[in-house]
Amino acid sequence: MRRHLIAFAFVALPLAVALAHAQPATPVAQAFRPASESGLDLSLIDRGADPCTDFYAYACGGWTKNQPIPADRSSWGVAERLQEENETRLRKILEDAGKSSDPETRKVGDYYASCMDEPRIDARGAAALQPLLDKIAALSSARDLPPLVAELHTMGAGVFFGFGAEADFKEASVVRAIADQGGIGLPDRDYYFRDDPKSAELRKQYGEHVNKMMALLGTAVRLKPDTTGKAAGTAGAADTVMKIETALAKASLDVVARRDPAALYHKMTPAELQALTPSFNWTQYFTGVGAPPIDAINVTVPDFFKAFDQLIGSTPVADLQTYLRWQLVHASAVMLSKPFVDENFGFYGTTLTGAKELRPRWKRCVQYTDSDLGEALGKAFVREAFPASAKEDTLKMVRELESSMETDIKGLSWMTDATRQQALVKLHAVANKIGYPDRWRDYGPLQIVRGDAIGNSQRANRFEFQRQMNRIGKPLDKGEWEMTPPTVNAYYNPLQNNINFPAGILQPPFYKAGADPAFNYGAAGSVIGHELTHGFDDEGRQFDAQGNLKDWWTETDAKAFDDRAQCTVDQYSGFTAVDDVKVNGKLTLGENVADNGGLRIALMAYLTSTGSAGGKTLDGFTPEQRFFLSYGQSWCTNSRPERERMLAQTNPHSPPHFRVNGVVSNVPEFAKAFSCKAGQPMVRATSCRVW
Ligand SMILES: [Zn+2]
Repeated sequence: MRRHLIAFAFVALPLAVALAHAQPATPVAQAFRPASESGLDLSLIDRGADPCTDFYAYACGGWTKNQPIPADRSSWGVAERLQEENETRLRKILEDAGKSSDPETRKVGDYYASCMDEPRIDARGAAALQPLLDKIAALSSARDLPPLVAELHTMGAGVFFGFGAEADFKEASVVRAIADQGGIGLPDRDYYFRDDPKSAELRKQYGEHVNKMMALLGTAVRLKPDTTGKAAGTAGAADTVMKIETALAKASLDVVARRDPAALYHKMTPAELQALTPSFNWTQYFTGVGAPPIDAINVTVPDFFKAFDQLIGSTPVADLQTYLRWQLVHASAVMLSKPFVDENFGFYGTTLTGAKELRPRWKRCVQYTDSDLGEALGKAFVREAFPASAKEDTLKMVRELESSMETDIKGLSWMTDATRQQALVKLHAVANKIGYPDRWRDYGPLQIVRGDAIGNSQRANRFEFQRQMNRIGKPLDKGEWEMTPPTVNAYYNPLQNNINFPAGILQPPFYKAGADPAFNYGAAGSVIGHELTHGFDDEGRQFDAQGNLKDWWTETDAKAFDDRAQCTVDQYSGFTAVDDVKVNGKLTLGENVADNGGLRIALMAYLTSTGSAGGKTLDGFTPEQRFFLSYGQSWCTNSRPERERMLAQTNPHSPPHFRVNGVVSNVPEFAKAFSCKAGQPMVRATSCRVW
């Protein structure tokens, strides 16, 4: 699935397609959740810990001690456990789907069965790449790159840059072409430049990985001599790849700079883009990717494209060929034979995230089917796991949360009425999307051939790429989803001003029909509040009710917002993610604002809807205590240090520990609920509050 440029998700999203495929997951560990009156998992609570000293340790101590990370995962939390349960359901659906007489169900079943056919995949090695490798070998000059880059892009290889479709930031009702920085194999541009020993070692390991993959490729397929006359050997490939990727990284914006939407908006005519990159013929490229006539394109980072142009103009053709071969084998690795899969996992799974074992094939195939045919598979998932009543119940909770947010906005002391009115207009325009799409995507034209796993994957990539191209120049369809129904996640899309909750996350332990309201509001309610608050975080607040990048704030109110946001930046910058790596307070600002605001409005909604004050005690906990425990327990997670490091350097979410303690320590109601006293760690002397 294509990662969207601007969308705010609830949990740490996979970094990129290749990494997502390399992302390991769990063995079957069917959830054991002891029943309790409150719905809380009492076995997770560490009675020896003091909730006022470390609430995460109190709520999740049992998880920390008794839920070791399975060998095939880099982290193991309640969200991953739910994902595991959803995957187990999907497996059953997929195994049955191969026998179905319904063409779409059959398609899904055939895709999965082909992916599971490991002997056939192993026998084919990397033969499926031969036609593209021959085209790369035939490249005679950088001038001939555009059609080749186009073909590689459509089949999923992210060479040099990214290209797709996105709502125009300043005219969000229309979809435009967008060209973005890209073309690197490490998770983010800073990986190419950090000079600490760990980072230097990681670059060395990446180089070794590139060389090994290229050596595998060299033995698996017929590599024609390059047009330069030099044999298309693979020795020294890493140096070439590093040189090219470092040049691309150097011209790329870093993760913090990319949080400023204005920095990513440079609308150009195709002629202006052409003038920026004289060596790369865009007309040929647009034709190659099947784009419709383009009158305007958002060139997110113009300096990146200038550097790209210089790079292709100054790099020997043989080096460009080496880079293209690497990116092709890298993008295809998970669908090639075992040596490629293992080597790919060795770097992206073990070195980068700390997973010890490759996840079982069926789990990988469930994930790839979800990624390539997600809405066809999602239909069956919804039928099983998300009844109409669940949708109605969730919608009711969403409306209560929106009502609380309205009360919150009306009561803010720091906001003047002019901005307040605009904030309310935006809030009232938020659209709620729950569970699954109203209109399902049509996979009719996508050909799935039983027994051709890599061909299916390539055709699915082309199909999705073409679907994106078809959106260009058309009105924005806000009914489309960026996550599939079984996904354990949620998002806010600022360009559409809507909140999206896939059926996959509206399951226990986030949401359970008929459970104690404290349980549902603490977990699912806080997720809903989180997404809603994204519309008003440091990025979201820059978009208006219609999704346009347009300033609706008075100068005084913008300043007041920034002052409050700075408190959050400073607070989270003080947290240590792992070893010597601190949480990046600027990178995580939007998520932290959403976590804090989300919990507050969920609490308001809970207290309003249930009038809990004086409510009865369940399992020994007051209603407010249960609310906070449910929130805390939704974040219980064990993570490997490699993953913690990677996420702290690249991901906008804070580590789970701080998503709990950072938030509750800002909330006076928490201190009251657990009788915490001033001076204790969970009671901040200066508590931060934006919303
Ligand atoms: Zn978020």
